[in-house]
Amino acid sequence: MQSAQQVSAPTPQQFDVAIIGAGPSGSVAASLLHQQGKRVIVIEKQHFPRFSIGESLLPCCMNVLEKAKLIDAVNQAGFQFKNGAAFNSQGRYTEFDFTDKFSVGHGTTFQVERGQFDKLLADTAAKQGVKIRYGHSVESIDLTETPRLAITDEHGLAYDIEAEFILDASGFGRVLPRLLDLEIPSSLPTRSAVFTHIEDNIDQVDLEGFNFDRDKILISVHPENKDIWYWLIPFSHGRCSVGVVGEPHLLGDLDGDLQAILQRFINEEPRLNQLLSKAKFVRECGLLQGYSANVKTLATDKFALLGNAGEFLDPVFSSGVTIAMQSADLASQCLLKQLDGQPVDWQTDYAQPLMIGVDTFRTYVEAWYDGRFQDVIFFPDADPKIKQMICSILAGYAWDETNPFVAESERRLKMIVELCRA
Ligand code: FAD
Repeated sequence: MQSAQQVSAPTPQQFDVAIIGAGPSGSVAASLLHQQGKRVIVIEKQHFPRFSIGESLLPCCMNVLEKAKLIDAVNQAGFQFKNGAAFNSQGRYTEFDFTDKFSVGHGTTFQVERGQFDKLLADTAAKQGVKIRYGHSVESIDLTETPRLAITDEHGLAYDIEAEFILDASGFGRVLPRLLDLEIPSSLPTRSAVFTHIEDNIDQVDLEGFNFDRDKILISVHPENKDIWYWLIPFSHGRCSVGVVGEPHLLGDLDGDLQAILQRFINEEPRLNQLLSKAKFVRECGLLQGYSANVKTLATDKFALLGNAGEFLDPVFSSGVTIAMQSADLASQCLLKQLDGQPVDWQTDYAQPLMIGVDTFRTYVEAWYDGRFQDVIFFPDADPKIKQMICSILAGYAWDETNPFVAESERRLKMIVELCRA
């Protein structure tokens, strides 16, 4: 029999970086760090493919995918090509072509079913040599000395790992914000989204002169309430993602039949009603509520929050995956320096640069809901140069401070709103 002293806990496995979650931010960070010779482990709670919301990408994220050497796999996967965004409100219709933008960089991207997309990124990172453990969940963290994660696998086996640094890429799981009490309320009001996938059958519909371009996301505004909006995201195989978003009191009783609720809202918007007149729901409707989130701090010298594990704003401009990948790129750059013994100030080197883009999106998200940005978007006589600058932001280039609508977003927006409303 062993005495109590003889029973010692196994030595935790050691890594340079442990990443919580294998969504886009986790896979991109893992790939970037692994390619620089760092010992990376990714701990993912679920098995892939798994459903995730967030299906319309922005061209800006293609630059990060390129850097992480994940872009070839994405280009070859047969996803729906995307070159812009279309907006529809009360008979007004306008399009933004992302290739006609102010900033330098990719001008096109894809619309993706996230189960397939996230698996592709994770599998491609794994082929590069990244280790991913599926079905393993991070349960707690100890930051007293070298960061240590307590993990449980799907059979209930518990073990610890130690890493010089932890990247939290757990998305809406928000693992470190919960465990380290970092959560603070978002500045944005609580909103809800009801969504599903449909077999759209739009090719069988008489569009009666409507434009419909599968290469663009279509954002529609409710005819009587500009605070309610819809997304229609075409996929490559005759299906679309469709959803309605609004404050809970505007969407009504969400305890009821979600499909009936979504169908009722679709029926209320004439163009969407026409477009989807032959559509069939092919997935149970989902409901997400109160998804906007914020934190006290995005990083210290022992951990950084990526993507949705940090701040999440709002889905209206499809910025989530782009912010997630941008955060993965920025954090990886800081981390490579720190692991090489160079000084890093995580506030000035990571949080502040990341917040340039997040705050730019915030300006336009808030102005979307108060109606100002909707007036800009639907303004019929837009100056082509200004339209290119706005287009850059809609394409995800919210960190490009050579764009005046990024560098001075609030002031420029005010000026343009006054012009549009004159
Ligand atoms: P995720 O993709 O959420 O990945 C996190 C991973 O962490 C998951 O796989 C999860 O299983 C894992 N995990 C969680 N907890 C643990 C744990 N304890 N241990 C181990 N692993 C764990 N973005 C867009 O770009 N375009 C859109 O069109 C868009 N539409 C949206 C619509 C709505 C209604 C909402 C709410 C969001 C939308 N978003 C959109 C945002 C988008 O969903 C997210 O920004 C994006 O998925 C964030 O990626 P991520 O890598 O941070 O996390």
